[in-house]
Amino acid sequence: MKMDKCSFCGREKKEVNLLIAGMEGHICDNCVEQAHAIVEEEFKKDQGIDIRSDRMALQRLKEAAEKAKPPFRISIVNRDTK
Ligand SMILES: [Zn+2]
Repeated sequence: MKMDKCSFCGREKKEVNLLIAGMEGHICDNCVEQAHAIVEEEFKKDQGIDIRSDRMALQRLKEAAEKAKPPFRISIVNRDTK
């Protein structure tokens, strides 16, 4: 069985509280929170507020979000394994 790890930050599931599986990768709870912050920043961008995260991370999240569009099948990976 292959090692599950976050596709964004590279942390393995034992290093995060929660790892969520998408169709082509995984995302950890830390990155979900960061992604959420980025989404909020995107909405604020029109108002001239800078994006906190670096551009590469933002781009990767955007691409992943595009791929993850419906049907967005997710599952929680081994929440209890640490
Ligand atoms: Zn992550």
